[in-house]
Amino acid sequence: MCHIQLAEPPLAAPGTGRLSNDRTERYRSEISIQRAMSEQYPTTEPTTEHPTNETSSGPTDDPSIPAPLTGEHLPQLRATLADASHLLVCLDFDGTLAPIVNDPDAAAPTTENVAALASLAAADSVTTAIVSGRSLVDVRTRVDDPRIYAGNHGLELGWSESLAIHPAARERATRVEVVCETLENVLDPIPNARVENKRLTGTVHVRTVPSGARPVVHRLTRSVVDRLGGDDLKLSPGKRILEIGPDVNWGKGDAVNLIHTQLPDDTVPIYIGDDVTDESAFRSVEPTGIGIRVGGTEPSAASYRVDSPNDVARVLEWLSASGVSLVDPYRDDSHGDRLAVQRDGDQCFDGCPKQWSTSMANE
Ligand SMILES: [Mg+2]
Repeated sequence: MCHIQLAEPPLAAPGTGRLSNDRTERYRSEISIQRAMSEQYPTTEPTTEHPTNETSSGPTDDPSIPAPLTGEHLPQLRATLADASHLLVCLDFDGTLAPIVNDPDAAAPTTENVAALASLAAADSVTTAIVSGRSLVDVRTRVDDPRIYAGNHGLELGWSESLAIHPAARERATRVEVVCETLENVLDPIPNARVENKRLTGTVHVRTVPSGARPVVHRLTRSVVDRLGGDDLKLSPGKRILEIGPDVNWGKGDAVNLIHTQLPDDTVPIYIGDDVTDESAFRSVEPTGIGIRVGGTEPSAASYRVDSPNDVARVLEWLSASGVSLVDPYRDDSHGDRLAVQRDGDQCFDGCPKQWSTSMANE
């Protein structure tokens, strides 16, 4: 069910080595035991853990549940944008611009989202950014137009020709690689289990793993990360994935904050995302900005929710057709100067030791 009915103007529509052979054999034995216990893996795709593009229910009285975004919220949206000198529109990729698909390599943004994003990115008073768990290199090949890319959950930032990588993530990339290589071996007997090394982080994909085998994948992955990652790495759940990354106090929300600080005063941030890793970004933009959660009925720090990537296109189209016109770039006197700096191919992220250092200090 689509809640987007914004009728208003054409809201158009410690060790770092590999596992020893003995240890690997122990893991394989464990898998065999699990397999024997379950007799065989179910072939159906369960939907209990992290539903895919979940269908939202109607409004609820629980304030922790985002309200379905409807035309009734237009006055609120307009009022927020009317206080802005600039807009920062940050978007997650999978499940937000692109529908979730079984093969992550096949993920692509919807045609409508591509068009809407291009239109929005062309506006002088808007800065667009993709904030994804994918590597920066990967997500850059899948969507054009944004001036800023934050890959690996914000651990790497690309702005114009500049690239910044969180120093702790850079230092621990080798550890991530060792864990990923080990997991490829350990999980090899599990049907459809796939390990992706994204250089700074790693992902274990379980979307098409038979439901009966998923607990085994989770347990083995946890074991390998604990043993080989020690205190340097952490394991985080996502939508039918397990994320392995440096155990640092830095996430998507920090990346959004960092981008926000580079923009004019009175910039209103908007964040749209669909997963638990997007919650820190919602917290970073709320309440002065606008957080929109895609799918699901669970509590969220976002104020609003929409059902699907198709609804995201409606939001972007409304922003482009109507929302942007409410923004007054002359509200902030520094606006012109800052944008001029950015458009000179600035090295702002190369010169962001303060933020990175803060993060490292919090580890
Ligand atoms: Mg996502």
